[in-house]
Amino acid sequence: MRTVGSVILEDTEISGLIEGYRVAIKDTWSAMSEAGVSAQCMDCAINDGGSCCGRGIEDRFDATLLLINLFMGIRLPTARFDQTGCMFLGERGCLIAARHLICVNYICKRLNERIAKDAIMRVKEKIGREAVAGFALEEALKKWLIGHGF
Ligand code: SF4
Ligand code: SF4
Repeated sequence: MRTVGSVILEDTEISGLIEGYRVAIKDTWSAMSEAGVSAQCMDCAINDGGSCCGRGIEDRFDATLLLINLFMGIRLPTARFDQTGCMFLGERGCLIAARHLICVNYICKRLNERIAKDAIMRVKEKIGREAVAGFALEEALKKWLIGHGF
């Protein structure tokens, strides 16, 4: 039996936007890694007990963003790994692909101080592209759902 999800994925506009978003997310992570952001965050989490992924951030997610994660093959966690942390936080960081803008946009004081400005700018440029791709997909998905009576 065809599920609603499989019918949505047959829509070429939506499946194209999912692919574009997937690439944009990958580009952001690559830029963050190249800039040393990932290493800083790892060091912050291990040595400074720092994490900006606090409990309650998951409440900012709406159903569309969760649906997009499912379309991207993410298995949403059903139990919290860290009782003080976001529901989507795992042992090795964020478990989902499509993150809220509040997560994607966040460049903390430590990163601003320790990462070269031009590298931060390159990361921000990728973040901007990810945000645009995510927004386009969310809008197309909402339009599809409304158009089909959901
Ligand atoms: S963004 Fe900043 S506060 Fe959050 S884990 Fe990375 S370094 Fe730490
Ligand atoms: S969604 Fe991911 S990046 Fe955002 S707060 Fe939760 S664990 Fe952190």
